[in-house]
Amino acid sequence: MPSPELGRRWRAARDGLAVVHLDAAAAGATSQAVVDAQATHLAAEATLGSYGAQEGAAERLAAARSALAGLLDPTLTGADVAFHHCATSGFTALLDAWPLPPGGRVGIVPSDFSSNLLALRARALRDGLELVDLPVLPDGRIDVDRLRQGDGPAALDRLDLVTFPEIPSQRGLVQPTAAVAALCRDAEVPMLLDVAQSLGQVDVAAAGATGGVSAYVGTSRKWLCGPRGVGFLAVRPDFVDRLGVPAPTGYTARWEPDPVAPGGGRLVAFGGVGRFDVGEAPVAARVGLAVALAEHVEAGPERVRARVQALGGAARRRLDAVAGWRLGEDLDSPSGIVTLRPPSGVDPAAVRGRLQREENVLATAIDETRARDAVPALRVSPHVYSTLADLDRFAEALERVTTRPAP
Ligand SMILES: *Cc1c(COP(=O)(O)O)cnc(C)c1O
Repeated sequence: MPSPELGRRWRAARDGLAVVHLDAAAAGATSQAVVDAQATHLAAEATLGSYGAQEGAAERLAAARSALAGLLDPTLTGADVAFHHCATSGFTALLDAWPLPPGGRVGIVPSDFSSNLLALRARALRDGLELVDLPVLPDGRIDVDRLRQGDGPAALDRLDLVTFPEIPSQRGLVQPTAAVAALCRDAEVPMLLDVAQSLGQVDVAAAGATGGVSAYVGTSRKWLCGPRGVGFLAVRPDFVDRLGVPAPTGYTARWEPDPVAPGGGRLVAFGGVGRFDVGEAPVAARVGLAVALAEHVEAGPERVRARVQALGGAARRRLDAVAGWRLGEDLDSPSGIVTLRPPSGVDPAAVRGRLQREENVLATAIDETRARDAVPALRVSPHVYSTLADLDRFAEALERVTTRPAP
């Protein structure tokens, strides 16, 4: 495994973990420093008052937004990043504000996160939009050659928006995001990229560097190992003024009186991503994310990525064919998400529950509701702190639980 020393440090920073944690794609294990920073902030709220504590955290929160900008896209700064409740709320806020003509066409993929797809369907119903699948290969990756050839209903020059998750939740595949972003840039089609499952485990900024990604949504708790209840969105500064105001409130917009205008005035969005601000928020959780980001940057994002990829590959080699479970993706997929399809008659949700209760092992069960292309599977997602020994323990636990009758 690459960077064994980094792995040891991240494990030591989590020495309270009482489970075999192979579930970063659901929620990465947080370090003690992330927990302590939150507790310290809550204590400061109690002693200094909540707003005083927030002022004291301002620099750290600004540093967190800058760190996110740096990980996403070389043209972004911290001023282009807004905290949000989660990736889903960031996605719906952006989509509500996104300029789309009546009858407009949105390019999506079969692996879209079901929640995002619901928001897209609702907007499509409201505004008569058409959702069209981009061409994909049999494994679910976008077919860049067919997209470049540009014929058929998903021809880029007929689209008004392209959106997809760089890494879907339900399968270990990584989209060729940089290539797609470059095509979108050339075709002048805005792209909204969901990095909830990719930021922290692949090089998102490679796509950002093409200049073809207009906006991003992501979350704290997965591969960034931050707290729950925080997400973020980011918009390129040369695009943000094309967006409307998703939820006009005192946090996001102001009223400009104009006696001759219909209604006596007009709504003016706050500048930049300020129009997406969530005024009231768990500031302690944002402070925790700031610490998690600092740890990620300090570890070296490249080293984190290399170790996660290697662990994903090791997990696939170790787990394929254990008790009849089979890999749901290529052995060499460069993702830390590993999926296992069950032997016939075995229910992944039941196995997941038993792994947790009987074996103290954390993983996730995937079912068909997660995405249009989802199939029942167990999802295993090791992170920097994971070891080959964890994978062995998982394999042995999976063997026992699959072959032994439920108690
Ligand atoms: C988890 C996930 C989301 C949603 O993130 P939340 O922070 O839970 O809203 C969106 N897209 C993908 C691909 C995800 O895996």
